Amino acid sequence: MYENLKEEHLMAYKTINPFTNEVIKTFPNATKNQIEDSLKIGTDLYHQWKKEPVATRSKKLHDIADLLREKEEELAQTLTIEMGKLISEARGEVELCALIADYFADHSAELLQPTPLTTKAGEARVEKHSVGILLMVEPWNFPYYQIMRVFAPNYMIGNPMILKHSSTTPSSAVAFTKIITEAGAPAGSLTNLFLTHDQVDQVIADPRIQGVALTGSERGGSSVAQTAGKYLKKSSMELGGNDAFIVLDDADLDQVIKVAARARTYNAGQVCTSSKRFIVADNLYDEFLKQLGKTYRHFKPGDPLDEQTTLAPMSSAKAKAKLEEQVNAAIANGAVLYQGNTAIDLPGQFFEPTILTDITPDNPAYYEEMFGSVAQVYRVHSEQEAIALANDSHYGLGGIVFTKDKKRGQKVASQIETGMVFVNTFLYTLPELPFGGVKNSGYGREMSAIGLNAFVNDKLIVAVDKPDFENRAGALF
Ligand code: NAP
Repeated sequence: MYENLKEEHLMAYKTINPFTNEVIKTFPNATKNQIEDSLKIGTDLYHQWKKEPVATRSKKLHDIADLLREKEEELAQTLTIEMGKLISEARGEVELCALIADYFADHSAELLQPTPLTTKAGEARVEKHSVGILLMVEPWNFPYYQIMRVFAPNYMIGNPMILKHSSTTPSSAVAFTKIITEAGAPAGSLTNLFLTHDQVDQVIADPRIQGVALTGSERGGSSVAQTAGKYLKKSSMELGGNDAFIVLDDADLDQVIKVAARARTYNAGQVCTSSKRFIVADNLYDEFLKQLGKTYRHFKPGDPLDEQTTLAPMSSAKAKAKLEEQVNAAIANGAVLYQGNTAIDLPGQFFEPTILTDITPDNPAYYEEMFGSVAQVYRVHSEQEAIALANDSHYGLGGIVFTKDKKRGQKVASQIETGMVFVNTFLYTLPELPFGGVKNSGYGREMSAIGLNAFVNDKLIVAVDKPDFENRAGALF
């Protein structure tokens, strides 16, 4: 079933340090036997887990959280060396993974309790059962956190998982799965495979696979979702975003700037929920630009392992080249370069935080996701214009609204066509909060009770002592 690997796919997985450009390690693609073994072991584990109550897995998930914390520094360095994020941000990612693991270890058994139903058909309830092996396809921007969002809930449910990570973050994939193994989770809980795209399709087609969760771009999502659809496998898609950060006319600009500066530069701007479009009320627009520009000038590029560095390199030469191309195209199509976009004299993949204004709907930049520190700033003259502009997007992932009036902010938030909106604060990601979007940002949610239920069999069981032949409305016979 699994075809021989094509020559160009061999050794596609590479760790390249984006600060030094050094190729640190290459990894061979998965073999036919590795794929088959992982499906076999996953199937056995699925059947084994079905016999055990959910709560029995909670202790091991806490052990995984403990081990993540114990090995935080080593794990964080792997991230920083492989995809360039600041070491402090890498440590934060490891801690967030531990938080997610603890949360699902503590709450899953209760959240997966059967739900009783009131019906004249009999004693009815919906039980939540595992479904089988899942494939997760993950991106490079948060190499551990993206895995944990799928792993923790599905481990508790009892769905074994196969991981296909980004070809640019194989070392992170190996480091994460090593933690799972070292913590003592059974083999097959999470199997990392360096799959080619063709092999991803073949794995999805396998009858032992029951679902696929992808986080990535629209292009990757569309391709994997098509295969999932073809083989009738349930899927969830966490894709890109072009999030709006709305600054209403009564907002406190000091607070706005503190959040805005981070919202576009955290993780070198490579975040699906980065605020990519700043939509600013006319009365605050000039001052907003001035102050945002000032904060952007203070970033210090350097080695992301150095605590003093505040501007990290982008994840790869490819990511930087794409962003430069997009910025140049935006300017060629009439955008005004307010600040930035000048070369940084370091060998790594650095991109200077950049501010663009005067982007019109006919500019390609208007609808595109720019995956790096480029702030598009728009001027609006009313609340309604701000909402309309926020909604004039092919994406619908997150968003932020700033106003001194929290209630007004909540009303505006309700009118924004996205999956998540935060008023007067950062865009948080926490295990108790659902994460996901609408439109081309994908479908389904990860984390929270909603994410926990993404891949369960909601099984209805109705029981009576004997049939009631007098009460047949709705009976299918
Ligand atoms: P990507 O190119 O779509 O890659 C994501 C994953 O999908 C990688 O493992 C990639 O493998 C795989 N993939 C891509 N095309 C595939 C195909 N045709 N068949 C099988 N697998 C395929 O995305 P990216 O550039 O790494 O990540 C950045 C994107 O992710 C941005 O758009 C960002 O907004 C989005 N994102 C979304 C969320 C969210 O929660 N909504 C979170 C983070 C990032 P290879 O590396 O082998 O190509």
